[in-house]
Amino acid sequence: MDKLTYTLQRSNRKSIGFTINSEGLKITAPYWVSQELIDKAILSKKSWIEGKLQHWQHQQPARSFQWQPGMGLPYLGKTIIIQPEPGLIACRFSGHYDAPQNNDTLYLNLPANAAPEALKKACNQWFQGRALAWFDARLRHFHQTKAVKPSRYRLSGAQTRWGSCSSDGSIRLNWRLIHLAPELIDYVIAHELAHLKEMNHSPRFWAEVKRILPEFEAAKNVLRQQSLHTLPII
Ligand SMILES: [Zn+2]
Repeated sequence: MDKLTYTLQRSNRKSIGFTINSEGLKITAPYWVSQELIDKAILSKKSWIEGKLQHWQHQQPARSFQWQPGMGLPYLGKTIIIQPEPGLIACRFSGHYDAPQNNDTLYLNLPANAAPEALKKACNQWFQGRALAWFDARLRHFHQTKAVKPSRYRLSGAQTRWGSCSSDGSIRLNWRLIHLAPELIDYVIAHELAHLKEMNHSPRFWAEVKRILPEFEAAKNVLRQQSLHTLPII
């Protein structure tokens, strides 16, 4: 384990305890325990500690993230630029809605010195609108080709999941999916549609996902690396 840093707190407890959170590793040890024993305890917990620390690093939102004019935001897997544009009646996108390119610009109907909160609000609204339109089109596509239609679908803004479905046949899709590449969004939609037939993750369920979206494996693997918490609009 290289360069493990931790804070040590002595207390009246009877054993050595480990806590790992966004602040890192904290060790609590009884007053009588020597540094050598603490080192041994760390060594015996090495892989658990490393795993937990790694988990937290992935969960950390980018600290440097700041809403400002000219910043890039992910849209359908590309990076678009946001720019306030006083005098606009509504937001205007310089690229193609359904096929954005890197550095396309989203002009927001805001004053040039708009506050970060205003930028965030305007962007969230635009992205949610785009998410609705995109999901509508993709659900229609899947319905026309292979899948059943959900009884109803709604946007969610969940912080922890991309999609969900209920036994009443409705599904929810996280609007933040609109940040990701189209094939990743398709996988989440196909996954939820497959749940309308199989409410589990059995082999029958995965066969249904494959029937709806034969090339789903690659997207599934990429999505596994992609945490909601690494997205900017949290
Ligand atoms: Zn599932």
